[in-house]
Formats: sequence, structure tokens, C-alpha cells
Amino acid sequence: MIQSLLIANRGEIACRIIRSARAMGIRTVAVYSDADARALHVRQADEAVHIGPSPARESYLVGEKIIAAALATGAEAIHPGYGFLSENAEFAQAVIDAGLVWVGPRPASITAMGLKDAAKKLMAAAGVPVTPGYMGETQDPAFLSERAAEIGYPVLIKAVAGGGGKGMRKVEAAGEFADALASCQREATASFGNAHVLIEKYIQRPRHIEVQVFGDTHGNIVHLFERDCSLQRRHQKVIEEAPAPGMDEATREQLCAAAVKAARAVDYVGAGTIEFIADASEGLRADRIWFMEMNTRLQVEHPVTEEISGVDLVEWQLRVASGEALPLRQDELSIDGWAMEARLYAEDPATGFLPSTGRLDRYCLPDEEIRVDSGVEEMSVVSPFYDPMIAKLIVHAADRAGAVDALVGALEGTAVWPVKSNAGFLYLAADSEQFRNGDVTTNFIAEQGDALIPPTEPDAEILGQAGRHLIEAYSDKSRHSRDNELLEGFRLNRSRDTTLVLQSQGTNHVLAKVPDFGGHTYSSGAGPDLALVTKFGQSFVIGLPRYSAGGHHAHDGDILSPMPGRIIAVDVVAGQAVTKGQKLLTLEAMKMEHTLTAPFDGTVAELNATAGAQVQVEALLVRIEPVD
Ligand code: ADP
Ligand code: ADP
Ligand code: MG
Repeated sequence: MIQSLLIANRGEIACRIIRSARAMGIRTVAVYSDADARALHVRQADEAVHIGPSPARESYLVGEKIIAAALATGAEAIHPGYGFLSENAEFAQAVIDAGLVWVGPRPASITAMGLKDAAKKLMAAAGVPVTPGYMGETQDPAFLSERAAEIGYPVLIKAVAGGGGKGMRKVEAAGEFADALASCQREATASFGNAHVLIEKYIQRPRHIEVQVFGDTHGNIVHLFERDCSLQRRHQKVIEEAPAPGMDEATREQLCAAAVKAARAVDYVGAGTIEFIADASEGLRADRIWFMEMNTRLQVEHPVTEEISGVDLVEWQLRVASGEALPLRQDELSIDGWAMEARLYAEDPATGFLPSTGRLDRYCLPDEEIRVDSGVEEMSVVSPFYDPMIAKLIVHAADRAGAVDALVGALEGTAVWPVKSNAGFLYLAADSEQFRNGDVTTNFIAEQGDALIPPTEPDAEILGQAGRHLIEAYSDKSRHSRDNELLEGFRLNRSRDTTLVLQSQGTNHVLAKVPDFGGHTYSSGAGPDLALVTKFGQSFVIGLPRYSAGGHHAHDGDILSPMPGRIIAVDVVAGQAVTKGQKLLTLEAMKMEHTLTAPFDGTVAELNATAGAQVQVEALLVRIEPVD
């Protein structure tokens, strides 16, 4: 067995690999870029080597630096994780040439499956059903257009070197073909340095079903059943599960046998995934499921297979790389229950899923006993350099209904702030009737449109929870006496005309009464005067609008930073006379601009703010002395 392992990756998958290696007594070496100097995977590993600047092409994608780090630390083997260099046959060969163990398939297998057209031809020759289409050498646009017409619209143009859902165009009719081809080729050249495309029949009611396979160096190959990854956004997986809903035993046997045949055709060693596309218009039928591509690495969604099979796939990878035979035979493998995984991303569904970066001041996952494979923890910084996936929530139950309930429950209480997350979106998708019925195709998310985008404005329940939280938080704080009086008055006087104004992202909301306990919300503090309320995975930060409203107590002249952020403009100078409501400075936080104004007439007695400066929450920015 190898004694030491370098992990050529970052984030959750690096942490995941360290966990299994450590359990096996293997010493772990992490690599990291500038941006990751304090990352979780670096702290978890036994040793860590800095390999360069933050951009991946200057660090995580530089094979020579990674091999040098392995040699310098005496690591015997390299695990590439997924993404980055994991499907780079040249790198795999260089690792082997350096006298190190490559935790992955033979470089020749990676090459054979690397291009989608070559892989499909190989599979067709091995007798595996492939998605109907054209996969030849000729790339003349007029010729390709004829092939598309022959296949029959709609068709899918795919970059042969594509991956991660990029380099694909669905074409509905002949008139759109030329433009779609040109744009697909442009994207393929820019992203993969290869303009070659293939054309496939666009499968109706498509479901993405894939099979986990595993080979060893002794000629054994097994499968570990299927996963269903049909819940996708723009051809990228969002929620995955195992087994596949509606898969009967006979169909499963045929599909998994085809997958093993595919793996055998390339003498496969290690963990791999055979991806199929199914036409589910009449349920899952073996004669309507076709080979799409093979991923010659550990897959992001491997945990759902681990949950239903009881196998630690990373442990198997390390055993196989060490020359051991597969620990179990095919007849010793079986499916236990149902598992699901949701990919938690630092992105904002409300702005078209733009990635969101910054420090995770709050990162609370529910207490329930679920598996979380995370690459971050509270106070970690999400940088703009890498994939925005920060964690995976994984549940396992006796049956599918139980798994959906567990996933929905886990997502409901997930709180991420001020970095935006897709937890609310995942919640709505998982809780939808169609998903609960196990009846989604890869088009589900697109068809739902805005129905899966969580609200950005707080509702009455959220405001009520915030009000209650603030009342409790303030009751023992004397220094905020004005707010204290306000909240106390609101709490005691439940008559109809007593209201409380709360502010969320610069917008004022009126709360009419203190609500009863219960409901779906979770609250915690988010700063001295702010309540963080989470409902259905969506987090809101709510406070009293004290930074723009006037009151008249001496200490109200202290203008504190309401949250961590950056000062973008200062409108006053020290000693200046100001009038109530006058703009003092503008703070940018949570990607929003907040204007802080003078609470009353006075002079600027103290000014601790300069444009461009980062400020912590509760920092004293300006002190206004009242005029008597
Ligand atoms: P999967 O089916 O496992 O999602 P993909 O081919 O879509 O397979 O991509 C694998 C995963 O690797 C993606 O989900 C993405 O998060 C990650 N990934 C892709 N490219 C990179 C990269 N350059 N660096 C790090 N991770 C990446
Ligand atoms: P990538 O390398 O980007 O993962 P794939 O070939 O695996 O590319 O396709 C990605 C996704 O695109 C699939 O999971 C599926 O949702 C969709 N897709 C691919 N081929 C077809 C097809 N022929 N018909 C319908 N949808 C398809
Ligand atoms: Mg794929």
C-alpha cells in the first residue's frame, strides 16, 4: 500500500480524498495557490506545498510544479481529483515517468475516451449502443448540415473535446444550423483549443443516467449500479441520486452490463463513469438508452453511489493504485436504500446565477445527521478564481420519499451569508411535485423558469422572526437605548397602531405585530444590530433602519459600520458642520451600496473612513457631535 499521497486539487474533493487517505494511515500532501493559502484542504493535509499564483493555469494546472512538489515531499502517489488535470493523459504519463503512482486509469484509456467522437466509435465497435448521429472527420459546414437533416431535427452539435456542459448547441430547425455551428466552433476553439464537432440526435424527454464502473490491474471490472443526474441547469448537474427512479431490475442489468463492456473495451483501471442518455417518453427501456461519453476519473456525484453501496470509492482507488485487487466481486455488491446529493454553489439565483465571492461570515448547515462534503467552513473566503461549488449535501434513506424529505429538510435550514448561495433554489427544486414524483428530465429547470428562483424580499414570517430576534437581542443592551425603547414599546403594545420598521437590503418594511413562535424560519445574529433569518435555504439580513433615521441621544452620533464592507465614497471632512439626513459616506457590502447619513444636526467630531478602505462590522466610522 502506498504510504503517502499528494492531492493535485483543492476544495471539497481535496478534503474528501484526505479523509479516506487518513483513515487508511496514508500521509497526505496538499498543494495550494496564493488564494488558497488558508484554505481548508491546506489545513487538513499533513503537509502543504505552495505551487504558484491564484489563476489555475499558473498553479493547479501546471503539471511540472505538482510533480516537483510530490518529489520534494517524498509523496509516492498523485490523486488528481476531478476537473483540473484529472483527464489529462500527458500529465498522467508524466507522473508515471517521474516514478510516481498515478491514482487513475492508464493514460491510454484516458486518451481513448478523451474525445467524444473517438469514444463513440470505439463503443459502437464494442457493441455498446451509442447516441445516433454523425461522428466523422469531415467538418465542412454544408456537409454537416446535410448530416443534421438526415439525423432529423432537433439535433445537438457537440464539441468533441467538450466538457462541463460547454461547447453544445441544440438546433431546432435547418435554418438555424449554420449560425449554431459557427458559434459552437468558436466556443470550442476558445475553451478547448479544438473546433471539431459531432452531431447527435437530440433525445426527447432526456434523462441522464450513468453507471459507476471500477477496474483493477488484475483484469477485474465491476459496476456499482447507476446514478440519475437528470436535474441539470444548462447541461450541468445540480441534484443527483442513486438508484434511478423507475429503473427495473432487467433494464438495470442490461445497462450496467453495457457499462462494464465499455470499460473492458479500454482495459479500464480505477474509478470511471459511463454516461448514457435515455429517452424516457415511455419510461426507462434498455433499447432507448445510449452511450454518451465516459469520464475517466472520480465523479463529483460519487458519494450517492458510496451511500447505497457502502463502498468508499476513494479507498478503492488507493487500493487499486497500490496494485491490490478489487475488494468485492460483482455478486457481493448490492443496493441499499436511496441516496441524493445537492451541489451547494456560491452563486446568486436572483442574478442569473452569477458567482458570489467573499468571506463566509455565516455558513450553517443543519444539525440533522447528513453527510456534508465541504471545501469550506465558517469564515473561509470564496475566491473568484475557481469553481463556485463549495459543498455537497448528501442524504441516505430507506426509500426515495425518505431521501427527498431528508434533502429538503437539510436545504431548508442551510444558511450562507453574506456570500449568496443556491440553497433556496435547490430547496425549491427538491421540494417540487415533479421531482418528488421522480419525473424530471434534463429540461425540468429550464421549463420551471422563475418558479425555482427564491424570493429576494422578506415575507411577513421572515420579518416577524427578525423582529423577535432583535427584541431578544436588545433587551439587555443599554447602549442602544433608543432602539431598546422602540423594540420594548413594540413588544409590549400589541395594539393595531404600533408598528416597527425593519430594513432589509436598504428597503424598509413595516412589521405590524410580534408573531407567535413556530414557522419555517431560523434566526441568528449577523452583527450587533442585525438578524440573519433563513427560510427555505434563503438568507435575509434584517435590522432597524437606525443608520439613516434620526433620534436624539448623544451616543447616536456614533456611526458604526453595519456590516463588513468597503467604503466607496466619503462625503464629509473632519470638523465639518452637517445637518440631519446629510450623506456622510457610502459603504459597499453584500454587493449593495449603503448610504450612511447624519442622525441629527452637528459637526463631524471624528472621521475614520477613507474611500477604498475595507471595514469590519461595528467599526466606528464617523462620530457626530450634536449642536446644543
Ligand atoms: P461531472 O459530471 O462530474 O459534473 P463535468 O465534466 O461537468 O463532470 O465536470 C467535472 C466537475 O469538475 C465539474 O462539476 C466542475 O465543478 C469541476 N471542474 C470543471 N472544470 C474545473 C476546473 N478547471 N477546476 C476545478 N474544477 C473544475
Ligand atoms: P459534457 O462533456 O459537457 O458532460 P455530455 O455529452 O456528457 O457533455 O452532455 C452533457 C449533457 O447534455 C447531458 O447530461 C444531457 O443533459 C445533455 N445531452 C447530451 N447529449 C444529448 C442528446 N443527444 N440529447 C439530449 N440531451 C443531451
Ligand atoms: Mg458529461
